[in-house]
Amino acid sequence: MEDDITTELRVLQSHLDGMLDRVQHNSLTLKRFQTFEMRLLNLNSLAEMIDQLLCDAKSFFDLDVISFCLIDEKAEIAGYLSDDGYDYLSNKQLILLNDNELLKSTFGLSATPFLGTYKQSCCADFFLPLDRKPVSVAIIPLRRRGKYLGSLNLGSFAPNRFINDMATDFIEHMVSVVSICLENNLNFEMMRRTSLIDTLTGVNNRRFLEQRIGEEVDRSQRNDEPLSCLFLDIDHFKLVNDTYGHQAGDYVLATVAGMIKKQLRSNDVLARYGGEEFVALLSNIPEVMAGDIAERIRKSIKDLIFTYSESKINVTISIGLSTYQPEKESLKTSAEVSTQLIHSADSALYVAKENGRDRVEKGNKIETVITPRMVS
Ligand code: GH3
Ligand code: MG
Ligand code: MG
Repeated sequence: MEDDITTELRVLQSHLDGMLDRVQHNSLTLKRFQTFEMRLLNLNSLAEMIDQLLCDAKSFFDLDVISFCLIDEKAEIAGYLSDDGYDYLSNKQLILLNDNELLKSTFGLSATPFLGTYKQSCCADFFLPLDRKPVSVAIIPLRRRGKYLGSLNLGSFAPNRFINDMATDFIEHMVSVVSICLENNLNFEMMRRTSLIDTLTGVNNRRFLEQRIGEEVDRSQRNDEPLSCLFLDIDHFKLVNDTYGHQAGDYVLATVAGMIKKQLRSNDVLARYGGEEFVALLSNIPEVMAGDIAERIRKSIKDLIFTYSESKINVTISIGLSTYQPEKESLKTSAEVSTQLIHSADSALYVAKENGRDRVEKGNKIETVITPRMVS
C-alpha cells in the first residue's frame, strides 16, 4: 500500500517536472519571440527588415532553409532596395514576384498557411534553386487588408518538422506582426520618395534636387552669375557600418549632413543624392570660392569625433567640384547644363577617391556650346 503511494507520488512528481520544464521552455520561447517582434517593430527601412527577418526567423525557428517572397508588381520594391545600395539580386533568400498569381493559386482566398511535405510542383517557386531541398515546409502568406503582400517560407530537413495538423497560432501571430511591419515599411518607403525631404538626414532629397537644379541654372543664365556644384561622398562608409553597426552609420550620416548644411547659406540647396552622397548647389559662387567652401567642409568633417554608444568614430569625405559660368552664345538647355554640372562634379569626386580620398578635386569646365559633329 505504502509502496503504491510512493510509486504514484513518483509518477506525479515526474509529470510535474515535465510540466515545469514545458512551462519554462514556453516562457523562454515567448521571451525570445517578444525580442524578435520588438526588433522587427523597431526597424526603419525595408532592407533592414528583410535582413533582420531572414536572420532572426531562421535562428528563432531553428530552420534549415528560409526565404521571403514579396509581390512587387511595379518594381517599386526593387527600386527602394537598390536606392539604398541593397544588392537584392544576390540575396538568394529574397524572391520578388511580378504579380500575385503564385500566391492566389496556392492559397486562394483562404490565406491559410501550407504546412507539410515539400512537393516540387507546389513548393519550388517559393524557394530559389537550392543545393538541398527542405523535406517539410511551412509556406505562410502575408496579407494586409485583403491583399497579398508576399509569403514567408520556412523549410526543414526533418520530415515531421511541419505537419499538416500542427497548431499554427504561433506562426500566424508572427505572420500578422511581419505583415504589419512590412506594410508600414512599404508605406514609409513610398512616403520617403514622394516627399522632398530625406527622413534620415533632414536635408532635401534627390527628387528635390532634380526639380531645383534647372531653376538654379536658369537663374544663373539670367543673372550672368556662376553656379557651383559640390558632390560629397563619405569615405569608406561601408567600414563604419561594418565596424560599428548600421545604426551608428545612420547617426554619422545624419550628423555629417547637419555639419555640411551648417556651413552653407540658407538659400543654397543641399540634397542627399543617394546612400552616403550629397550634392550642394551654391548659387553665385565662382570656382575658387567654391573650392574654399569645399575645403572648409572637408576639414570640419575630418575634425569631428562622433560618439555613438561608447564608440568614438572618425570619418572623412571626398568632394568633387564643378562650376558653370554662363556664356552669351550658350546653345545648351538648362537640362543639358544641369546634367553636365552634376556629371562633372561626380567625375571630380571619382578623381578625389582615386587620389587617396579626404580631398577636394575640381572637374572639367562646363561646355556651353554644342560641339559640331564631324560629317563624313
Ligand atoms: P568610398 O570611400 O569608395 O566611397 O567607400 P564607401 O564604403 O563609402 O562606399 P560604398 O559605395 O562601397 O558603400 C557605401 C555604403 O553606404 C554601403 C551602404 O550600406 C551604406 N549606406 C547607404 N545608405 C545608408 C544609410 O542610410 N545608412 C547607413 N548606415 N548606411 C548606408
Ligand atoms: Mg563613400
Ligand atoms: Mg558612394
